[in-house]
Amino acid sequence: MIRYSLTCSKGHVFEEWFDNMADYDTKAEKKKLLCPECGDKKVAKALMAPSIGAASQAPAPAPSCGMGGGGCGGCPMAGMHG
Ligand SMILES: [Zn+2]
Repeated sequence: MIRYSLTCSKGHVFEEWFDNMADYDTKAEKKKLLCPECGDKKVAKALMAPSIGAASQAPAPAPSCGMGGGGCGGCPMAGMHG
Protein backbone atom coordinates (compact mmCIF):
# COMPACT_ATOMS: atom_id res chain seq x y z
CA MET A 1 0.00 0.00 0.00
CA ILE A 2 1.13 3.48 -0.73
CA ARG A 3 -0.28 6.72 0.51
CA TYR A 4 -0.41 9.81 -1.60
CA SER A 5 -1.24 13.33 -0.67
CA LEU A 6 -3.65 14.59 -3.27
CA THR A 7 -4.85 18.06 -4.04
CA CYS A 8 -7.87 19.17 -6.01
CA SER A 9 -8.01 22.17 -8.30
CA LYS A 10 -9.46 24.21 -5.47
CA GLY A 11 -6.53 23.52 -3.27
CA HIS A 12 -8.00 20.99 -0.85
CA VAL A 13 -5.43 18.52 0.27
CA PHE A 14 -6.35 15.01 1.30
CA GLU A 15 -4.77 11.61 1.44
CA GLU A 16 -5.66 8.40 -0.30
CA TRP A 17 -4.32 4.89 -0.09
CA PHE A 18 -3.45 2.96 -3.22
CA ASP A 19 -2.24 -0.54 -3.86
CA ASN A 20 0.69 0.83 -5.80
CA MET A 21 1.63 3.61 -8.20
CA ALA A 22 -0.23 1.96 -11.07
CA ASP A 23 -3.35 1.85 -8.95
CA TYR A 24 -3.17 5.61 -8.60
CA ASP A 25 -2.72 6.02 -12.33
CA THR A 26 -5.70 3.81 -13.06
CA LYS A 27 -7.97 5.60 -10.66
CA ALA A 28 -6.81 9.00 -11.83
CA GLU A 29 -7.36 8.01 -15.44
CA LYS A 30 -10.87 6.74 -14.74
CA LYS A 31 -11.68 9.82 -12.71
CA LYS A 32 -12.26 7.70 -9.66
CA LEU A 33 -10.53 10.22 -7.51
CA LEU A 34 -12.74 12.80 -5.89
CA CYS A 35 -12.00 15.57 -3.51
CA PRO A 36 -13.88 14.65 -0.32
CA GLU A 37 -14.52 18.29 0.39
CA CYS A 38 -15.91 19.62 -2.86
CA GLY A 39 -16.21 16.57 -5.11
CA ASP A 40 -13.77 17.98 -7.61
CA LYS A 41 -12.46 15.38 -10.01
CA LYS A 42 -9.44 17.40 -10.98
CA VAL A 43 -7.19 15.74 -8.51
CA ALA A 44 -3.45 15.58 -8.72
CA LYS A 45 -0.72 14.30 -6.54
CA ALA A 46 0.40 16.94 -4.11
CA LEU A 47 4.04 17.55 -3.68
CA MET A 48 5.38 15.48 -0.87
CA ALA A 49 6.37 17.72 1.94
CA PRO A 50 10.03 17.30 2.70
CA SER A 51 10.69 16.10 6.18
CA ILE A 52 11.58 19.01 8.35
CA GLY A 53 14.75 18.81 10.33
CA ALA A 54 16.16 15.88 8.40
CA ALA A 55 19.82 15.48 7.73
CA SER A 56 21.37 18.26 5.74
CA GLN A 57 21.35 17.90 2.02
CA ALA A 58 24.42 16.55 0.30
CA PRO A 59 26.12 19.11 -1.88
CA ALA A 60 25.19 18.88 -5.53
CA PRO A 61 27.84 17.25 -7.68
CA ALA A 62 29.70 19.55 -10.00
CA PRO A 63 28.47 19.44 -13.57
CA SER A 64 30.72 17.48 -15.83
CA CYS A 65 32.82 19.29 -18.37
CA GLY A 66 31.32 19.18 -21.85
CA MET A 67 34.75 19.01 -23.56
CA GLY A 68 34.23 21.52 -26.32
CA GLY A 69 30.76 22.58 -25.42
CA GLY A 70 30.17 26.01 -24.07
CA GLY A 71 29.90 26.95 -20.48
CA CYS A 72 32.95 25.12 -19.18
CA GLY A 73 34.26 27.41 -16.52
CA GLY A 74 36.38 26.62 -13.56
CA CYS A 75 36.93 22.98 -14.36
CA PRO A 76 40.46 21.56 -14.79
CA MET A 77 40.00 21.52 -18.53
CA ALA A 78 39.29 25.23 -18.75
CA GLY A 79 41.65 26.88 -21.19
CA MET A 80 42.42 23.66 -23.03
CA HIS A 81 39.46 24.05 -25.24
CA GLY A 82 36.95 26.67 -26.26
ZN1 LIG B 1 -11.71 20.18 -3.25
